Amino acid sequence: MSAGAVPIDAARTPRRPEPAPLFDRPWVRGGLPGPLSHELLARQEARESSARSYPRRLPIAIARAAGAYVQDLDGNVFIDFLNGAGSLPLGHSHPELVEAIERQLPLFQHGLDLPTEVREEFASAQLSLLPAEMRERTKIGFCGSTGANAVEAALKLCKTATGRSEVIAFQGGYHGGSHGAMAVSALVSQKERVAGQMPGVHFFPFPYPLRGPIADGPGCVEYLERSLRDPLGGIARPAAVILEVIQGEGGVIPAPPEFVHGVRRVTRELGIPLIADEIQCGFGRSGRWFAFEQHGIAPDVILASKGIGGLGMPISIIMFDERLDAWAAGAHTGTFRGNQLAFAAGVAAVKIIERDGILENVRELGAAALAALEELAGEFAFVAQARGAGLMLGLELIEPDSGAPDGAAAAAVQRAALQRGLIVELGGREDAVIRLLPPLNVTRRTLDQALAILREALSAVQQDQAARRA
Ligand code: PMP
Repeated sequence: MSAGAVPIDAARTPRRPEPAPLFDRPWVRGGLPGPLSHELLARQEARESSARSYPRRLPIAIARAAGAYVQDLDGNVFIDFLNGAGSLPLGHSHPELVEAIERQLPLFQHGLDLPTEVREEFASAQLSLLPAEMRERTKIGFCGSTGANAVEAALKLCKTATGRSEVIAFQGGYHGGSHGAMAVSALVSQKERVAGQMPGVHFFPFPYPLRGPIADGPGCVEYLERSLRDPLGGIARPAAVILEVIQGEGGVIPAPPEFVHGVRRVTRELGIPLIADEIQCGFGRSGRWFAFEQHGIAPDVILASKGIGGLGMPISIIMFDERLDAWAAGAHTGTFRGNQLAFAAGVAAVKIIERDGILENVRELGAAALAALEELAGEFAFVAQARGAGLMLGLELIEPDSGAPDGAAAAAVQRAALQRGLIVELGGREDAVIRLLPPLNVTRRTLDQALAILREALSAVQQDQAARRA
């Protein structure tokens, strides 16, 4: 059957069940996927490219969502700690953000880079989040609609400003799926399938206490510094160093302060622009507006996307030191640099987060959640470590005998959690890290529900493993 000819068989389509009694707690009946979800998943599989990813591990079709909860077509309700890959700072369907978009919608929708009041408000709001000493000398650039496009823009900007070609990135880092962003990302399996990578990228170790190759911050800085200063180090002075202060897709690995300070010192001394990729760890996720703030450093270029569109509205920006603004008119163009709905939602999100003291919530509940995850790490032999900052949290699973990352166990926990009503993400080496990205305004009640489910899921997988060994 051709991909376009998947029949819609009304007779076979099961009737929609009653919605869950309450939309504020997990509620799963029967195996997953339920029959309606199954139908859509099958059609998707038949039609869409093999690149589709989330539905392979989270086999549900979504009907609606509110706050931290989503409901599938079969009426099952899940706590959603995948959170649009971290792009819903105030959860799904936040009424004030919906209203902000509705207010903008009839006025003007698509503006290229022509000035509008809401674009101006958005730029002001974003710049106002920067540490005071950076605001005056920072320029903002509107990129295409995804995070990867901000990465492309930053690489081009730094190459143009410095006239250099080499780029330093870190092992474990992730910066996106476009060609240049993929080249500075560490995911080897993705690169191996695409010939002709952007040349000139050099990967250095990122401190990773569990695995190394250099576990500690000072060791990683020393290796970087010696390589860059060594006349026989092999790397021409780079155009940029790109860094996630907290690696997200790489498995929730916060960089220790000595590392961040060291990288800033070395790049400053050698005149290399430092790009902080805040696409995932920014916009409040770490408990501060920008994750680099906790280290008191000032990067030269900051990348932002995901949460800044408020309600998952697509948008990405770069904010950079005006001294780097060597761009000519049209140096980084793109049709979708003027999404007025994203501007409206983004402005409203900043106001709400400030009004409601939501960064405080991130710090408080983040600390409580990390403590609870650390307990789980103490309780289960196959949980090696709990990590995180704010509401960007992870649990790394291992084979207890060898210490090797255990992706199969993580996938089993993800499945067991889904079956009990919790959606989590995976990441890191072998996808062995269970990742939690709750909305920043998550309540204690929802967090407790999620942690209880996670514990049950870990228990179930542990029992299963024990039964298979017996
Ligand atoms: N940088 C980081 C740190 C990310 O986590 C991501 C997405 N997970 C990206 C860049 C790419 O963003 P996008 O998928 O919107 O292109």
